[in-house]
Amino acid sequence: MEDCLFCKIINQEIPSNKVYEDEEIIAFEDISPQAPTHIQVIPKQHIARIYDVDDSTSHLVGKMTQVANKIAKEQDLLDGYRLVINCNPGAGQTVFHIHLHLLGGRTFKWPPG
Ligand code: 5GP
Ligand code: ZN
Repeated sequence: MEDCLFCKIINQEIPSNKVYEDEEIIAFEDISPQAPTHIQVIPKQHIARIYDVDDSTSHLVGKMTQVANKIAKEQDLLDGYRLVINCNPGAGQTVFHIHLHLLGGRTFKWPPG
């Protein structure tokens, strides 16, 4: 989609440090990491918000989770890692192409800020 930052990363119009890619999903390092590991896992299909997921796209959310788990294992994060999806500005969503944050490499507090 035009004017979508993450679609531009998918199309390589904007560079990223990619850590995973298949036909439906890519994962890349966050530009402003909030933990020693901070990776974005996204579908190649443009979907603005997790609220917009429906029967035709819900399998992508499962795949995003599987990819995040695989990266967590590869990066030795199995002691504890956090997967976050922010939905809408009130929850902190700033990029409107769904993305699963994979955060690890430090301890995390609960409740989150
Ligand atoms: P949100 O706040 O929407 O849940 O998360 C958006 C994330 O995208 C933030 O963690 C932010 O640092 C990251 N981000 C924003 N612009 C870029 C960029 O150009 N490249 C990369 N790799 N990450 C970005
Ligand atoms: Zn997009």
